[in-house]
Amino acid sequence: MKKDYWIVAYYIFTPIEDPLEEVKRYQKFLENKNIKCRIYIAHNGVNAQMSGYKTDIQVYIDWIKQDARFKEISFKIDSYHEHVFPKVCIKFRKQLVALDEEVDLGLTGKHLSPKEWKEMLENRDEGVLLLDVRNQYESELGHFEGAELPCLKNFREFPPYAKELKNHYDPAQTKVMMYCTGGIRCELYSALLKKEGFTEIYQLDGGVINYGKQESTAHWRGKLFVFDDRLSVCIDEKIDEVISQCAHCKISSDTYYNCANMDCNELFLCCPTCAEKRKGCCSDTCMSANRVRPYQAAVRPKPFRRYSKESE
Ligand SMILES: [Zn+2]
Ligand SMILES: [Zn+2]
Repeated sequence: MKKDYWIVAYYIFTPIEDPLEEVKRYQKFLENKNIKCRIYIAHNGVNAQMSGYKTDIQVYIDWIKQDARFKEISFKIDSYHEHVFPKVCIKFRKQLVALDEEVDLGLTGKHLSPKEWKEMLENRDEGVLLLDVRNQYESELGHFEGAELPCLKNFREFPPYAKELKNHYDPAQTKVMMYCTGGIRCELYSALLKKEGFTEIYQLDGGVINYGKQESTAHWRGKLFVFDDRLSVCIDEKIDEVISQCAHCKISSDTYYNCANMDCNELFLCCPTCAEKRKGCCSDTCMSANRVRPYQAAVRPKPFRRYSKESE
């Protein structure tokens, strides 16, 4: 397949004086471009993911880079054969990551490059807690070997988890190595752990996306969950490993479905046979529910976007 699209992800924390005006400016700029996106703009920064024609994306990146507020941005770019977002979505948000808590972004951890991260992984001892701060449906698909995988359903469950963590690990003695998909969650979560008394925190710069580009799958198992139409990707396209299983029959599967019962919509892993048999539902109860979307035997199901409130 011809890969003439780029998928881009970036974030930046910087004061945005009038985020609503900024939203309008972006909307206007993207009006006639072949770009689809999910961009959130807040008073303290921008979190953006998009897909588009390479030439259009290049024009966009040049436009962003000439703005002094955004010159520090590092763009994570992948080639692809089509769009991975359904539309242009640019919104003002109170918070870039849905947390009901104020954190001091001056208190983040030490950023490690993928190379430094790999070295630290290889030399770590018992005093190091390798922490996957993503949700359970993400870490289930793939994660670093030996990582602590909290069973979180959404971003808002992290702050109470962070509070609880100090009952199991001595904050003064424990070095924390934390990682997420693209790095933005660690910016907030590291500050949160500091607030809880943890002093030595390291975070993977640019997240797993960046790591895969530089260190391939070293110490990584499985796939990476992404918040776009692909849902599941290899962190190095040369290495395709599946460690997750169909929720029904437990055979190896890395395909996510949103439950066809619209009042459930739960994201679950499923093999094609079980998806067909259960009409795309996560349970028997959902199969006999009132509002079930007709099942379409798609080669690769696209997300039914209710979960997109939860986007990195
Ligand atoms: Zn199955
Ligand atoms: Zn269901």
